[in-house]
Amino acid sequence: MGIREIVMMGLMLLVLILAVLGIAAAMVKKKRAAELQSNVIYLPKKRTSSKSSDMTTTRNQKCSRCNQAKKLVFYSNDFGHIAGLCKNCRKDIGDKQELYPI
Ligand SMILES: [Zn+2]
Repeated sequence: MGIREIVMMGLMLLVLILAVLGIAAAMVKKKRAAELQSNVIYLPKKRTSSKSSDMTTTRNQKCSRCNQAKKLVFYSNDFGHIAGLCKNCRKDIGDKQELYPI
């Protein structure tokens, strides 16, 4: 084997190693970018889902008197008891006891 052939083989090996390293680096970069992207996408999704669930819980809250899911207004009475009441029940109770809107 001549020196030239050994040098050529060495160069080819070097190029091969560089290529493998380059591919590996590119893959790591892609993976990191994907992780970052998924994080970025995941966070707002989480926020919106928690927001919407909060909204649904307030929407689905039931009147503490007639137990119907209606638009509620929250009141506190003389004893500090807090109750969510719909319009009709607020009318009924409001005649009998003092209610303080929160
Ligand atoms: Zn009611």
